[in-house]
Amino acid sequence: MQSKPQTQRVKRLLQADRLFGITSVPVPSVLREVVDDGAKGAGVLSTGTVSVDSKRTQLDVLDREQVRGCEKCRLCEKRTNTVFGDGDANARLMFIGEGPGFDEDRQGVPFVGRAGQLLNKMIAAMGLKREDTYICNIVKCRPPNNRDPAADEVIACTPYLHDQIRIIEPDVIVALGAPASKMLLDTQTGIGRLRGRFHDYHYTNLSDEAVSISLMPTYHPAYLLRSPSEKKKAWDDLQMVMKLLGLPMPKR
Ligand code: SF4
Repeated sequence: MQSKPQTQRVKRLLQADRLFGITSVPVPSVLREVVDDGAKGAGVLSTGTVSVDSKRTQLDVLDREQVRGCEKCRLCEKRTNTVFGDGDANARLMFIGEGPGFDEDRQGVPFVGRAGQLLNKMIAAMGLKREDTYICNIVKCRPPNNRDPAADEVIACTPYLHDQIRIIEPDVIVALGAPASKMLLDTQTGIGRLRGRFHDYHYTNLSDEAVSISLMPTYHPAYLLRSPSEKKKAWDDLQMVMKLLGLPMPKR
């Protein structure tokens, strides 16, 4: 059974969306299908607790229906594949980088090159498997020559990331590198000053509540490959994340 008040709330938002061309409270596009077709997506709005299967379905629909064919910014022109995300739809821990690189563009999977291998090791050091987490980027198409995404590209693509966060609702976000950290925290402060402590990432959840997620900025694995002496600081950041998640701490 669907929860009537919640369904009606989303319907009202969608009516406002259609009338004014805007949505004051963002509604993930995947929910539009659920509301437009009451028979679809059973469970998504039913209890306020979204099942893992529903989350996976919502992510799949968002990827398949919107991201793969997206041409909202110039990054679509040279991509081989869009790179949506990878991992557990019910993950408590979400890693967010700035954008796909060469290997990711070829394979359509985030963090699979050398930096991805280092990220896998960082996750293993936390006592987790890559598939226990969810990994994605701010922009879903590769910026040429691995440059940072431009401001207009970030603006065009972040609605997809916001929907991913709203669907997954992780306990902790780790922002990998300066561009992701600055974008998510809406600041110009450098990564060296942002890292080492938790920040609040504010967003509106699917129940129309203003909530926040603990966000830890840390160095991007690609930077750590170039500057291995900074690995200790990144490990310090990840241990703070482990503590917050209640994961067993490594013995000294
Ligand atoms: S980077 Fe994002 S907004 Fe730009 S074309 Fe790719 S999916 Fe669309």
